[in-house]
Amino acid sequence: MSAAAASSVSAFETVTVSTAKVACDGDVAAGLGHPRVFLDLTGEGKIVCPYCSRTYVLAEGAKIGHH
Ligand SMILES: [Zn+2]
Repeated sequence: MSAAAASSVSAFETVTVSTAKVACDGDVAAGLGHPRVFLDLTGEGKIVCPYCSRTYVLAEGAKIGHH
């Protein structure tokens, strides 16, 4: 919608992780931090952070604990 806002973020980064639970607090170094949230990849093996729109993907072969 607003083309003017396009300059701020190099968003939609994909982060590969090896655990089903990750904590995301944004890109603090770039001044884009947000309150820390814990994301659970157990379902689909990936999740998008609702704050910074990073996509976290569970690494292939990573174990997801089942209780
Ligand atoms: Zn985030």
